[in-house]
Amino acid sequence: MQTLLTSKPNCPHCNVILSPLPSRQKVCPNCKQDIYVRTYKNEKLLLKKSDAVSLDAIKNVGLMTELEKVVRHADPQLSLQDVVWALLNKIKANGVKKNDLNAASTITWQMARLCYLQGGEWRSLMQQSYRELLMSCLNNKLIPKVQISSALDDNVCDECKALHGKTFTIREALEKMPLPPQNCEWCRCTYLLLTK
Ligand SMILES: [Zn+2]
Ligand SMILES: [Zn+2]
Repeated sequence: MQTLLTSKPNCPHCNVILSPLPSRQKVCPNCKQDIYVRTYKNEKLLLKKSDAVSLDAIKNVGLMTELEKVVRHADPQLSLQDVVWALLNKIKANGVKKNDLNAASTITWQMARLCYLQGGEWRSLMQQSYRELLMSCLNNKLIPKVQISSALDDNVCDECKALHGKTFTIREALEKMPLPPQNCEWCRCTYLLLTK
């Protein structure tokens, strides 16, 4: 049975048959668009960027088995990206329902990253992810404080550099929501959870 995870020799944009099959990212000789290559069960999947990064997100959060299940029954008109977003939304809703905000936060973070990778609006999802993380700290009472840690390499923006090392109580962080800073373009700064 063909599914969205079946290996096919066609360009994902223009459908032209590629021979030999590209083993890594390349430009389609016919339509000149980028083809992304991912390995699934020892076969090469030729994908659009939106589908490739969506598949990466699923691997990152360990949901491949769940994806395989939904892909089997997915409407063939849908893209892999569509199926992945539906799955992420479902898993996140489950987390919220079970009051597992830490799990929900992980999923929301991946959604923010997907938007960022495709040049979309990611800030509001990132804020939501941090809010869920901080709320889970507030609920379990094991984490009284957070500290901001930035990557401190050349890509870090001035706002994040200035925040590095600052500590906040969970309530303060929820009130001020220092991350992500307003003009930050994904510097990879994050909260470290402090147990005292
Ligand atoms: Zn093409
Ligand atoms: Zn920044």
